[in-house]
Amino acid sequence: MGHSSIKDPTESARTTASWKTGQRASRLKVRYAVVLLVAVCLSMTAIVIWQAWNSRQYHLHDKEVAMSNLAQTLASQTQASIKQADTLLFALVDRVENDGVGAQQLPRLQRLLSAERSELKQLHGLFVFDEAGRWIANSNGAEVPGANNSDREYFIFHRDHPDRGPHIGQSIKSRSSGEWIMTVSRRINHPDGRFAGVALATIYLSHFLELYNSIDMGRNGVISLFADDASIVVRRPFNEADIGISVAKAPLFTQLLPKGDSGTATVKSYVDGVERVVGFRRVSGYPLIIFAALDKEEVLVGWRKETALSAGIVVSLLLFLGGLGYRLIHVMKQQQHVQRVLLDGQEKLIEVNRSLELLALEDALTGLSNRRQFDVFILAEMGRARRTLTDLAMLMIDVDHFKSFNDRYGHVAGDECLRRISAIIKDNIKRPGDLAARYGGEEFSVVLPGTDYAGAFLVAENIRHAVLRADIAHCESPEGRVTVSIGVCAYNPASQDQPDDLVSAADKALYVAKTSGRNMSVTAN
Ligand code: GH3
Ligand code: MG
Ligand code: MG
Repeated sequence: MGHSSIKDPTESARTTASWKTGQRASRLKVRYAVVLLVAVCLSMTAIVIWQAWNSRQYHLHDKEVAMSNLAQTLASQTQASIKQADTLLFALVDRVENDGVGAQQLPRLQRLLSAERSELKQLHGLFVFDEAGRWIANSNGAEVPGANNSDREYFIFHRDHPDRGPHIGQSIKSRSSGEWIMTVSRRINHPDGRFAGVALATIYLSHFLELYNSIDMGRNGVISLFADDASIVVRRPFNEADIGISVAKAPLFTQLLPKGDSGTATVKSYVDGVERVVGFRRVSGYPLIIFAALDKEEVLVGWRKETALSAGIVVSLLLFLGGLGYRLIHVMKQQQHVQRVLLDGQEKLIEVNRSLELLALEDALTGLSNRRQFDVFILAEMGRARRTLTDLAMLMIDVDHFKSFNDRYGHVAGDECLRRISAIIKDNIKRPGDLAARYGGEEFSVVLPGTDYAGAFLVAENIRHAVLRADIAHCESPEGRVTVSIGVCAYNPASQDQPDDLVSAADKALYVAKTSGRNMSVTAN
């Protein structure tokens, strides 16, 4: 039997499928949200790290440039201070060599030295020594009998070198005043070129220190003036023990100066081990190098604060974003869960509906269509047959002497008998459009669309014979087995004489069959 059902179940299947697609999409959405959140957090972190690194490089570079400029300025200042003293020395040497230091010249020379010294505030003193190191004249004016400077490094240098240029000696503590001084000296020659003595200008180291101290170099910054031989001439912060020591192994002399006369770098100090941002430059015209350096840690203090602040902001932003994302994903998951529960509920509901539908349209005992579906079906088929002018037949089947069957074999056996007859009826209707129904009690009806009297009668006889062949014992029946009577009725669109009500026509034919002796098929016409 393949009659069309009244409600199409594919619609609800479609709804379920679209729900399932929705579920998959929302799972994907959650996954995308997680990926997006992680990507945003990672890129924000990456951007902040990259920016912090850039800003650090910028801070260091900025200070390197500042140190380079400072070294340039200090080199000019140093050069100017020494140049002033050296110019005096040059004139002094010229004067001594040309005028000599006789008894007439000496007082004038003495006065000149005093006057010149008071002109330059950086000048500690001006001195003239003869070839044996004895004091000939000095800017202090006072005679120092017996004083001898032939043991000083600058004196020995000029005595042993014919070079006429200025010589910058090691910084020393003055014998006359006890103060730290730098020495600039020139050799004095006899007319024949022999060594005749030394002209010496001494410059206060405090002159340089005052200048260096006036510059803000932080707590741990350094400004140094080195001689060409890598000895410290003066260094800020000032420490007596540093003066004169050699820093030949410092990166300035091993790495930086071999590459150029000026430059910048970030290097570790040879003196105190502190890493510094440095700028350096040779003092033009003199064998000196000026060196300015800031503590790298101090340089980066501002950067650290700035970075900590932006890191703090980004961390709070990330936390906020993470929290928000977590809530969002949580809500999405909840929504997904609710959707799943709803979907499960809907599936169950559809299932229940389907069974309810079947219950409403099916006879519980036999599994055939029930009276309700039969009524709807016959009405629809009758309408269609009239519209399309097609044949329509129906059979009304009634079990013979069934009351006595029940009485003889019991109600349960009666039910079983009805089930067997239902199966036989089902087996004998082959077309998908046919419908077999339990009309009520031990009566069945069969609707055969597109079938005429002859066809319907054939089907009726097949059923009747099949019931006979089933050989269900019924000792109360004249046949000794269960038989059926069948009323056959058909609607023929070609004929004038048409039954308005197929059911009652079939019923009438059935009645004829009953009254004519049962176990037979009778047609209505
Ligand atoms: P007839 O040959 O004239 O049809 O005689 P009959 O006894 O079959 O006629 P009747 O209509 O008087 O009896 C029908 C009986 O069918 C009554 C009832 O006991 C029985 N019957 C109706 N429905 C069921 C059912 O669902 N189960 C069982 N076991 N018996 C049923
Ligand atoms: Mg009956
Ligand atoms: Mg009967």
